[in-house]
Amino acid sequence: MRILILGAGVIGVSTAYELIKTGHDVTVIDRKPEPALETSYGNAGLIAPGHSYAWTTPKLPKNLFKSLYEKQRAFRFTFQWDLAMWRWGLQFIRQCTQIKMGENTQRKYRLSIYSQGLFQQLIDETGIQYYKNRKGLIYFFRSTESFLDGQEKLALLQPLMKNLQLLNRTELLELEPALQGTKTQIKGGIYCLTDESGSCRDFTLNLSKICRDKGVDFHFDTTVKEVLKYNNQIEKVVCDKGDFKADKYVLSFAAYSAMFAKMVGDYLPIYPVKGYSFTVPIIDIDRAPIHGGIDEDNLMAFSLMGDHIRFTSVAEISGYDTTCTPSDFVHMIELANSLFPNAFDFSQIEYWAGLRPMTPNGSPIFGRGKMRNLYFNTGHGHLGWTMCTGSAKITVDLIEGRKPEIDLEGMTLNTL
Ligand SMILES: Cc1cc2nc3c(=O)[nH]c(=O)nc-3n(C[C@H](O)[C@H](O)[C@H](O)COP(=O)(O)OP(=O)(O)OC[C@H]3O[C@@H](n4cnc5c(N)ncnc54)[C@H](O)[C@@H]3O)c2cc1C
Repeated sequence: MRILILGAGVIGVSTAYELIKTGHDVTVIDRKPEPALETSYGNAGLIAPGHSYAWTTPKLPKNLFKSLYEKQRAFRFTFQWDLAMWRWGLQFIRQCTQIKMGENTQRKYRLSIYSQGLFQQLIDETGIQYYKNRKGLIYFFRSTESFLDGQEKLALLQPLMKNLQLLNRTELLELEPALQGTKTQIKGGIYCLTDESGSCRDFTLNLSKICRDKGVDFHFDTTVKEVLKYNNQIEKVVCDKGDFKADKYVLSFAAYSAMFAKMVGDYLPIYPVKGYSFTVPIIDIDRAPIHGGIDEDNLMAFSLMGDHIRFTSVAEISGYDTTCTPSDFVHMIELANSLFPNAFDFSQIEYWAGLRPMTPNGSPIFGRGKMRNLYFNTGHGHLGWTMCTGSAKITVDLIEGRKPEIDLEGMTLNTL
């Protein structure tokens, strides 16, 4: 079967790998010159089923409102006249109940843990290098209030995931000696031995090379302009570099999937939530952490990328703008330096910003809409790398007419 994958981020490329393995004729198109140059480029690099909590908590609406006048908040909103944002925003706010939070967390966990198993198989099959760090991840709390909140959230995942360990301050500092030099208060943390980290960009790039060797046809610098359809089927996709025809199509344009879907008459509730990252060289290995993790009070994730470390933070609902300037990072740099003083060379910083493709319930969208030959694999929010291999397998199962191995409740247009 001829299959056209729209998007060469981690989701599109993982899907290409799964499809070529099963003998399909696979083409991938992307507007960028290489794979993983948008959201999959500078993300935090955590593979974290142990942190698959829903973002939509009962406290979130109040925090978003406060962000209108407290600009330093990690979760923030800037007012815009964008109908798509308001339509999505209302659905997002409706998810902010205790019950929905539990359901959304369980669903995200189901896909994340399924995906992590398949990810392991893919690494064993291919031997891909991606700055793998399998020491586990630490999630820690600076204040008593956040530590209590963390324990409350832990109660949602602990029944599903037995290896989440609550640590007091002494236990945490013993596990992660670099935190012993910290200049900030730390109350305790949660350790997940099976969560991991690495570079999503390297993983995607290396996987695309394997795909190419196996016969996947990649077309870069190719932007989709229009879609021609007939009788509830896509006939062809019109790009600036010519037309592409296939038997089936997979949509993995992240936050831009909503625009593509609109061209064929579908509404996908996906909206960008901007995040920022900076990557710096490590200059003192003894002061740098050995684990990846999250400073929960500041939504600040970090992971080791060889002799560099990356920090990410901020969830900003502000439209499709991906620009950033050094001034956007002043607070993040202060936070990083307070955690691990004198460990990094801040004179050589790579700054980046990207858009998480968020759905209101935080899970991606699979299956089909109005077009019989268009399959969605998109909207992975803040856990796209964690969910990539599971999402690829689900998509291939659906394309080949098999029942996916996990329940897709809440992850298809008719169960959202
Ligand atoms: C700050 C931050 C931190 C994150 N941390 C983590 C983490 O620790 N762990 C984790 O699992 N996830 C994390 N994520 C989420 C993760 O990065 C995303 O979910 C994932 O990268 C989405 O992959 P994708 O392939 O759908 O999107 P992308 O990588 O954005 O790929 C989509 C592709 O579609 C192409 N495209 C779009 N429109 C068109 C068009 N019209 N024509 C042609 N091509 C087009 C783009 O060029 C792009 O290459 C983070 C995200 C951010 C922003």
